[in-house]
Amino acid sequence: MNIVTEVNDWISMRKKMANQTIGFIPTMGNLHAGHMSLCERSKYENDVTIVSIFVNPTQFNNQHDLMHYPRTLENDIEQLTKAKVDYLFAPHAESMYQDHYEIQVMETELSKVLEGEHRPGHFNGMLTIVLKLLNLVRANKAYFGEKDYQQLLLVKKMVASLFLSTEIIACETIRNENGLALSSRNSRLDKEQLDTAEHFSALLRSHLNDENVIAELIKLGFKVDYIVQKWQRRLGAVVLGDVRLIDNVNYN
Ligand code: AMP
Repeated sequence: MNIVTEVNDWISMRKKMANQTIGFIPTMGNLHAGHMSLCERSKYENDVTIVSIFVNPTQFNNQHDLMHYPRTLENDIEQLTKAKVDYLFAPHAESMYQDHYEIQVMETELSKVLEGEHRPGHFNGMLTIVLKLLNLVRANKAYFGEKDYQQLLLVKKMVASLFLSTEIIACETIRNENGLALSSRNSRLDKEQLDTAEHFSALLRSHLNDENVIAELIKLGFKVDYIVQKWQRRLGAVVLGDVRLIDNVNYN
C-alpha cells in the first residue's frame, strides 16, 4: 500500500491514476469492520481504492472528544494492507487547513437539527473537509456509512448542490453480534458500559414509542440527546459515561 502524508505528494500521485476507476473511503481512523466493509465494496466496484485517515479538528465541537479520539495508525495500516487497499492518504492538519479554516462549507437547514443542534459547527467542519478530500481524490465513487445517516444526507446534498462529479454510495451499518453499531468510540467504553450500550440499538428497533424508549434508556444510565423518527428511520444519540454514541435503524 502506498502511504502519502503530504498534500503536494498526493496531488502528484493522483495525476498518475488517469484512466482507472477510483473508489474513496474517507475515515478518521481507528478502523473496524464497519470501515473495512466500505473498503471491500470499493475494491469490488473500482480499479483503485483510496482510504483517507484524518481526525478532522474542525468537526469536533468538544475538545475533550478530540483529545480522546482513538488514534491507532499502525494497526489501521495493517488492516488496510491486509485488505489490499491501494493508497492511504493521511495528511497533517496544517496542510489541510492552510487557510486556517477561513473558507468553510455551510448548509443552513438539515445541518441545524439532531446532530447539528447538539454539536454546533460539527457539520460545517465535516462538509468542509469532505469537499477538500473529494477535490483532492476526484474519485468516481465515495463510500459513506448509514451509521452516520444525517452526515450521509448532507454529503449527498452538497455533492448535488455543488455539481461535484463523485457518486456517493450509502453502505449499511455493520453491528456486533448483539446489535451494537461498530464505532471507533466504542473502544472508550469499559466492559460494563459495552453491555449497557447494546440496549441502545435494541430499543431503537423496539415497538416502544419514542418517549418510552427515552425513559428506558435513562433507567439504564444513558443521558439522551434525542430519539427521533425521520426519513423512515428512528435515529438516536446518547451519552454513556463520557462517550457519545449515535445510531439509527430502518423504521416505518
Ligand atoms: P469515521 O471514521 O467514524 O468518520 O467513519 C468513516 C466512515 O465509515 C463514515 O462514512 C461512517 O459512516 C462509516 N462507518 C462508521 N462506522 C460504521 C459502521 N458500523 N458500519 C458501516 N459504516 C460505518
